[in-house]
Amino acid sequence: MPGEKFVLSGIILVVWVAGVWIGGGCGPIECAESLTDQVTSVEGANYSPTWTTPGNDHMTVVLTGPYELLDGTADALTAVLRDQAGIEAAVVIGPALDIPSEGVLDANDVMWKAYHLAEAYPRPVVVVAKVSETDAAGGGYRGYSYVFDEANICVVTLHWNVYQGYPFLNAVEGTILVHEIGHWLEVPARPFHQMADEPNHCSSGNCVMFHSLNACAVFANLTGGIPQRFCDYCAAELAEMTHRREQASAAERAEEAKCPDEP
Ligand SMILES: [Zn+2]
Ligand SMILES: [Zn+2]
Repeated sequence: MPGEKFVLSGIILVVWVAGVWIGGGCGPIECAESLTDQVTSVEGANYSPTWTTPGNDHMTVVLTGPYELLDGTADALTAVLRDQAGIEAAVVIGPALDIPSEGVLDANDVMWKAYHLAEAYPRPVVVVAKVSETDAAGGGYRGYSYVFDEANICVVTLHWNVYQGYPFLNAVEGTILVHEIGHWLEVPARPFHQMADEPNHCSSGNCVMFHSLNACAVFANLTGGIPQRFCDYCAAELAEMTHRREQASAAERAEEAKCPDEP
């Protein structure tokens, strides 16, 4: 399955840094054309079978690299998963991947090594592999996500280099990390806030699932800063997903509690 990317250009980051403290933000702000204008209820949306499966209210997050995540970014992920998706994440430090620490890396090599690492951990499991690339990132900080094994294994690769030492880099890394996990959770799930050009991205500029930090997204987040959370539309879908998972779990428990038929 092709990876999803989150692209951040140097110019946009500079604009963002200038604008973070200035203005005001509110609910979802449309920054891209959506597939349709017709707002639909969360009940009618399609959800990932992984995250509506009974008992799948937990996630193993394995961190590996050569590089460690920046301070706070794993916490941002666990907080948003707990608050907005009803999922408890267990973060563990995995062994370093056998890949070069720098240079132009083979993305497939990184992905497969992370995938094989994932196989050793309880599912659903995501391996987050943070690597540094001299050229391949094209001057940005990018994340890619790959989903395997009936969506019970996810690999997220974070490709950074040029922004080392920038202010707000922790927030940038946090938003990219949550964004890639958001692809695994399969939000946005309704056409009215799915981007017309990229339906796996949210049209709300102040949502962590927006495709990148363009000028509109910068102004949509002047007060709140770089988004770490899902917009109200995506959050409603995650809440419905949680509701379905809990219903399915309750039905399963009720079935198990039934007395076997006496002969
Ligand atoms: Zn994306
Ligand atoms: Zn959204």
